[in-house]
Amino acid sequence: MTPEGRALLLEGGTALGLDLTPQAEGFATLLTLLTEASAKMNLTSLRGEREIVLKHFVDSLTCLRGGWLADAGQVGAGQGDTGQVLDLGTGAGFPALPLALLRPDLSITALDATRKKVEFVGRAAAALGLSNVQPLVGRAETLGREPQQREGYDRVVTRAVAALPVLAELALPFLKTGGLLVAQKGPLTPEELDAGTRAAAEVGGAVRQVDAFTLPVTGDARTLIVVEKVAPTPERYPRREGVPGRKPLF
Ligand code: SAM
Repeated sequence: MTPEGRALLLEGGTALGLDLTPQAEGFATLLTLLTEASAKMNLTSLRGEREIVLKHFVDSLTCLRGGWLADAGQVGAGQGDTGQVLDLGTGAGFPALPLALLRPDLSITALDATRKKVEFVGRAAAALGLSNVQPLVGRAETLGREPQQREGYDRVVTRAVAALPVLAELALPFLKTGGLLVAQKGPLTPEELDAGTRAAAEVGGAVRQVDAFTLPVTGDARTLIVVEKVAPTPERYPRREGVPGRKPLF
């Protein structure tokens, strides 16, 4: 990473209230790994140091806004909770890898339907010495029905994966009651929020916060939506592969 890239990383971190100095070396390694891998396969649409630093690294860390992940080990009044976090649709590892660099206390499962992306996440985690990242290949619709996965997590994070009603159906089955979905999105329309709120209610969730903000340095519009699981998800959800996306609940 160039001195300019490092300065942007630290500036972005400061704007989020984070001192990224201790992790700067790790982010530099991740930049190298991502750049080398992207030259060989289609991993991410972002190219170049500035875009990757700001729109992958700093953007990923915006999931820490509001402190919703701060007490992942204490969800549900400490009843068997272990800080289990699922990154649903992690792609090349975002937000999973930046989050794991900052939060060794969290155990992060990085799930994606595309095998080559998940394999990259596994290689990157190993190279970075991140033993708190577990790569997982599969579709959320299928894994969300497996007994080891369903209700297995304290938090689900997800960035740029689907519209809110689709996310609610895919993510809520993975959460324990009392757990939180922390969804990172671009601008959110009132229509998407309304449909997402109704879909969340259908699968046992309630919207707790909608945090609209701008990404440090770039000024791009972002929204962090927090949904709490307040009741078990009915057995019929998630519907079979592809249906939540094709026919959203609302
Ligand atoms: N979260 C990453 C990021 O912010 O860079 C990747 C975003 S990419 C636009 C969306 C990812 O979600 C893709 O890698 C896709 O394979 C994955 N995805 C979409 N629907 C999925 C599903 N139902 N189950 C598992 N992965 C899914």
